[in-house]
Amino acid sequence: MGGVPFKVMDLAILVDFDGTIASSDASYAVLKKFAKDDWLAVEEKAYAHEITILDALKVQATMIKVGPEEASRFLRETMGIRPGFREFAEWCRENEIYLEICSDGFGWTIEILLCYWNLDWIPWTSNHTVPDRNGWKISFPYRKEDCPINANCKCSHFERLKENHGKVLFIGDGTTDECVSKRADLVFARDKLLEICIKEGTDCIPWDRWDEIFNKVKDLV
Ligand SMILES: [Mg+2]
Ligand SMILES: [Zn+2]
Repeated sequence: MGGVPFKVMDLAILVDFDGTIASSDASYAVLKKFAKDDWLAVEEKAYAHEITILDALKVQATMIKVGPEEASRFLRETMGIRPGFREFAEWCRENEIYLEICSDGFGWTIEILLCYWNLDWIPWTSNHTVPDRNGWKISFPYRKEDCPINANCKCSHFERLKENHGKVLFIGDGTTDECVSKRADLVFARDKLLEICIKEGTDCIPWDRWDEIFNKVKDLV
């Protein structure tokens, strides 16, 4: 896990990365640009629950044939940050509200982007990836055997935060956010996660922009 040590306060915020902080999905962008095989077919199998996210990531990582320099340049030139997140993160820091990122993609892409955006003070977890011209290597330091959804089990990060905080909010947008959205004290959901919450009957606040979340969280504290 990168970033600053854990700080014990009443409120903690757990936030997804791709499509939530990053304006689009960094893992998909890398696959689209550099994967030499049919990564989308693998993605569709995972989406249909025919294979797990972990198995999909394993296969997809080996398809990406690019070294760190070229991949890093590509990410810095093409990936954007969603407007308002930086202000929100800085406000959390000033008010000692614990903020942590959890991602179920290729961890290395997050490391590069957070550093480039000067947001590498935010702690984060993801799957561990090493870029390689002969195919990326991936390992799963936060895997939980009994997690039905994730390779980087987002619900176990929620449980860890919940041990030290009265309320843990979750903010996300995608299918890998399903298990944590069922446990969090308050969920902000957009896109696929919003569809899942509606289908599963999970209480959530729909969002499109970070300033909407910012205003609601300010009201809470
Ligand atoms: Mg996402
Ligand atoms: Zn889980």
